[in-house]
Amino acid sequence: MKFTQFGFDNRLMEGIEASGYEEATPVQQQVIPHILEGKDIIASAQTGTGKTAAFLLPLIHKIITSTHDQHTINALVIVPTRELAIQIAQHLEGLSYFTNISSIAVYGGGDGNAFIQEKKALSMGADIVVCTPGKMMAHIKMGYVKFEGLKYLVLDEADRMLDMGFYDDIMFIINHLPPQRQNLLFSATMPHKIREMARKILHNPEEVNISISKPPEKIIQQAFMVYDTQKIPLVLFLLKERDFKSVLIFCSSKLSVKQLTRELKRNKLNADEIHSDLDQDKREEVLISFKSGRLPVLVATDILSRGIDIDNIDLVINYDVPHDGEDYVHRIGRTARAAADGTAYTLVSVKEQRKFMSIEKLLGKPVPKAEVPTSFGETPAYNPAASSGGATGNRRPGKPRRFNNSASGNRHK
Ligand code: AMP
Repeated sequence: MKFTQFGFDNRLMEGIEASGYEEATPVQQQVIPHILEGKDIIASAQTGTGKTAAFLLPLIHKIITSTHDQHTINALVIVPTRELAIQIAQHLEGLSYFTNISSIAVYGGGDGNAFIQEKKALSMGADIVVCTPGKMMAHIKMGYVKFEGLKYLVLDEADRMLDMGFYDDIMFIINHLPPQRQNLLFSATMPHKIREMARKILHNPEEVNISISKPPEKIIQQAFMVYDTQKIPLVLFLLKERDFKSVLIFCSSKLSVKQLTRELKRNKLNADEIHSDLDQDKREEVLISFKSGRLPVLVATDILSRGIDIDNIDLVINYDVPHDGEDYVHRIGRTARAAADGTAYTLVSVKEQRKFMSIEKLLGKPVPKAEVPTSFGETPAYNPAASSGGATGNRRPGKPRRFNNSASGNRHK
């Protein structure tokens, strides 16, 4: 389906063409007409489906073709992480380049200057505000945020926001919005708690389902059964075995990210780390050098498992087994994007075997088990029934992960 069929304003069509989009993706085909009609939406769509443009395009069209109040916030987009806020704001800037839309990203971790910019935009008005919940709540509490004319609310990656413990913050923000508004909720998964939240927030929503809980077939997946002490040597071996250009290694905790990165560096590998303990500048710097190819190996927490666009990653290593099947699909989906092929290795310790088995169930087939070289000595057999690790198949029950929301901000045209 061509974008001309939606009847978008010419200025927006120019932005779509400049972004190189030709055909609307399935989620865009299904969601855009409902949004243009003014309906509330609940959509299950994952990253990579074109979901961001699915809500940005109709919002931009509606704002620029209506007599909108320039001195208020017209649309609020709430997202779980700073990285996603920045990415959406950049996407928005590209698509709205030929329009007079004003926008700002509001997220934690910036400096005093950014805070002043945010305060100015939030009190004087910005057409579209993309924010993380904690930072927006902090601004609201200071009393200057202009929500009187707000017409649109978007919750993106809603399941992730609930997993991170943002429910109360989100409801706090929503309680400060005018009740008459259009609500759009996007979530990769639709657990019960998302439906509960949707019942509270949405009015008579249209439901759209573009779930892809299976990784692309072209990713070569392999699992290695190892003892914990064999994990670091195996990563070193795998990185030296083939000439991978861009490798993303996921660990489930900041501690293991730091330990592994230290070991990689000690072994003269050009590696760096990204997690929520780093300040915003450092995170952006690391991400830019990884995206540009200057940094070949990046070790990350799940902060990077979703929503972040990095092409040309040829190997993903799960240093730890992810919490559940959705996380596994998101993590390994960072490789083999666009036309490229990709490889995904998962290192499974004895206590992680049960969790890994529940992931295989979600995938609907076993992940091939690779031989660990004999030089590593004895390795455990795959016997998940005997594994003591308590895999429940549920989403992560642990402590909510939150970032340091101190000060922030960027653009206001
Ligand atoms: P998203 O699912 O929003 O993270 O989008 C994934 C990627 O697809 C982004 O790099 C978008 O710029 C790109 N994209 C979105 N819509 C289209 C489209 N209709 N045609 C081509 N690329 C698109």
